[in-house]
Amino acid sequence: MNILVINCGSSSLKFQLINSDSEEVLAKGICERIGIEGSRIVYQPQGGEKETIESPMPNHTQAIQLVIDSLMNEKTGVIKSLDEIGAIGHRVVHGGEKFASSTLLTEDVLAAIEECNDLAPLHNPANLIGINACKELMPNTPMVGVFDTAFHQTMPEKAYIYGLPYEYYQKYKVRRYGFHGTSHSYVSKKATEIVGKPYDSLKTIVCHLGNGASISAVMNGKSVDTSMGLTPLEGLIMGTRSGDIDPAIMEFIMKKENLDIDGMMNVLNKKSGVQGMSGLTSDFRDINAGIAAGNERAVMAMDAFCYRVAKYVGAYVAAMNGVDVIAFTAGVGENDGVVRGKVCEYLGYLGITMDAEANKVRGEERVISTPDSKVKVCVIPTNEELAIARETRALV
Ligand code: AMP
Repeated sequence: MNILVINCGSSSLKFQLINSDSEEVLAKGICERIGIEGSRIVYQPQGGEKETIESPMPNHTQAIQLVIDSLMNEKTGVIKSLDEIGAIGHRVVHGGEKFASSTLLTEDVLAAIEECNDLAPLHNPANLIGINACKELMPNTPMVGVFDTAFHQTMPEKAYIYGLPYEYYQKYKVRRYGFHGTSHSYVSKKATEIVGKPYDSLKTIVCHLGNGASISAVMNGKSVDTSMGLTPLEGLIMGTRSGDIDPAIMEFIMKKENLDIDGMMNVLNKKSGVQGMSGLTSDFRDINAGIAAGNERAVMAMDAFCYRVAKYVGAYVAAMNGVDVIAFTAGVGENDGVVRGKVCEYLGYLGITMDAEANKVRGEERVISTPDSKVKVCVIPTNEELAIARETRALV
């Protein structure tokens, strides 16, 4: 069965058509600048060249129509009719406490997702727009929602509750939810293949280090803690997000810089993190280049980023009373051996010894600790689209 995987943002829409039997990606691409002038679709069939077509996309329905047109294009298309799409899997960012697993998208489910909009005002409405656009154009194709938060719903209360008046949880569901759940789930399952131990008896720490970054503690197949919180702002220092800070800094800076709350949130989400600290960019390739050129703030940003990751790893070793595997994934985790090496320098107390040669790996599954290391450290490329396709197939 072919599954169309959709990851819909407010002005962009990523897609992959995956054959769920062979797990091959038949075609993939992205619609950019939806609703903005200069919109375009980038499309790439399996084994073919990437092509970019400039085309007006006033809304997401038009974007999905262009995805369908590309998939069915006479020359570069990969299917002949819409009947060849057996199901659609949608990434949905926030499922609140309502969704602890993926689910078929019925009218009731869509209403429940809408009720979570408050918790992710930038993401969930965009996800729903994508779902409704697909429903309009392919009304008979079953659709599944796969939630970023679902995998972390197994966290115990002591891990998800904040030290705030309890009524905020009761009234508004203010608690830790965690994100990147599809990735943490996929990578922690893959880790079991590498270690050859069953999922339900393994302690894994997954370091998802991309532009957004989060860590999870996965014990016996269940997420027991994770670094992102009510929103993706908490936890690690990220590309442009601050991660953990003293909450009182907000009031202090707002007064000094004459910022309102929107301005402050914009600083914390878009102008902080590695970019804000270094004054360069959020991209670790630039940070590494800055370090090579002797830029002291690039060195500081790299050091602070890695130190924060190591601190969280230590916290999660405590939370699980041990760890068997530490897995690095996402753009930085898969590609940046410097980051992995620096993080693991802090972890000698766990009996971790790194294989410097193996740690040069980029974007490939590999064990990067030595055979006698007490904890296995590995690189496991994440594949959220494949995970969404698998979940979708399982439900239809
Ligand atoms: P993601 O959010 O998972 O797509 O990760 C994107 C981030 O990965 C970029 O902003 C870079 O910081 C990082 N990245 C990608 N390629 C490399 C590389 N070759 N070396 C270091 N960092 C990289």
